Amino acid sequence: MAVLESDSSIDCGEAPESATAATTDSPLTRTQMHLAMLAAVTLPPLGVMWAMYLLWGGWFDWSGLVALVVMYIATGLGVTIGYHRLFAHKAFVTTTPISVFLMILGGMSAQGPLIWWVGTHRRHHRHSDQEEDPHSPHAHRARGVIGWTKGFLHAHVGWLFTSTRESNHQYVPDLLGNPTIMRINRLFPLWVAAGLVLPGIVCGLVTMTWTGAALGVLWGGLIRMFLLHHSTWSINSVCHVWGWRDYRSDDHSRNNPVMGILSFGEGWHNNHHAFPTSARHGLKWWQLDVSWLVIRSLQACGLATHVRLPTESRMKARRRGRPLRNVVNQ
Ligand SMILES: [Zn+2]
Ligand SMILES: [Zn+2]
Repeated sequence: MAVLESDSSIDCGEAPESATAATTDSPLTRTQMHLAMLAAVTLPPLGVMWAMYLLWGGWFDWSGLVALVVMYIATGLGVTIGYHRLFAHKAFVTTTPISVFLMILGGMSAQGPLIWWVGTHRRHHRHSDQEEDPHSPHAHRARGVIGWTKGFLHAHVGWLFTSTRESNHQYVPDLLGNPTIMRINRLFPLWVAAGLVLPGIVCGLVTMTWTGAALGVLWGGLIRMFLLHHSTWSINSVCHVWGWRDYRSDDHSRNNPVMGILSFGEGWHNNHHAFPTSARHGLKWWQLDVSWLVIRSLQACGLATHVRLPTESRMKARRRGRPLRNVVNQ
């Protein structure tokens, strides 16, 4: 089983050692920033949980809960393992059936066709928190509370309405030349529809009612998409603002344990920006990285090879003297 050193210079642009992140100011104190971010991350899922509690036994029951959890995990791993680590960063190699399966699961997340997703993401790494970054909370940010809020909302969701027409094809020549990938990419609307219909069919068969089928579409499809969208978008917004930095990187990326759990390991975002092609983002034993556990299991079964990891010496060379706790004036 080949374990390669994670060399990020292939297609995503590792930050040069000497580079320094652009400085930004903030109208909020560190405590205010922490409270605002904590509210932004926790209130929406808490609201959904409250709705689930109120609806339990009526419009929400065990079949809806199982559909929601199973579809969230399956499509979430399709994005993190498939779209992100396999296709965007080539962090490992796997068989064609598994690649196709991950691509379809990623499509069912409704986060965009693979080619567009990977192009946008590689552009993010190439120009992270700079002018060309499609979703930075820092670039172009105006001063003051309103400017800070606008920057955060742009990174979270606003960029989808301003950057989607830009072509990122120069970042994905490897994918554009693969007919299998192009074919599955073109069928993106079909995968989105499947992500809605599939939980509906299963819940309909389990309950043997049309209401059960409709609730399967609602909880396993629409609400699951809502939760996973915000989880992924929070990597772009929250994880470039709130958390700490273990490694030097040419941007504001942060390690955020809340997002590390909710997004199957993607929240260890400073680790990821420091070593973009590493298949493992949670580099410390306690940094839970479910996506890495799946990749490691595939490797143990002989289904993943050429798994890239940073060597101890590279991690040591990039380690910061002291984690940055102050998120305001970085
Ligand atoms: Zn980032
Ligand atoms: Zn990445």
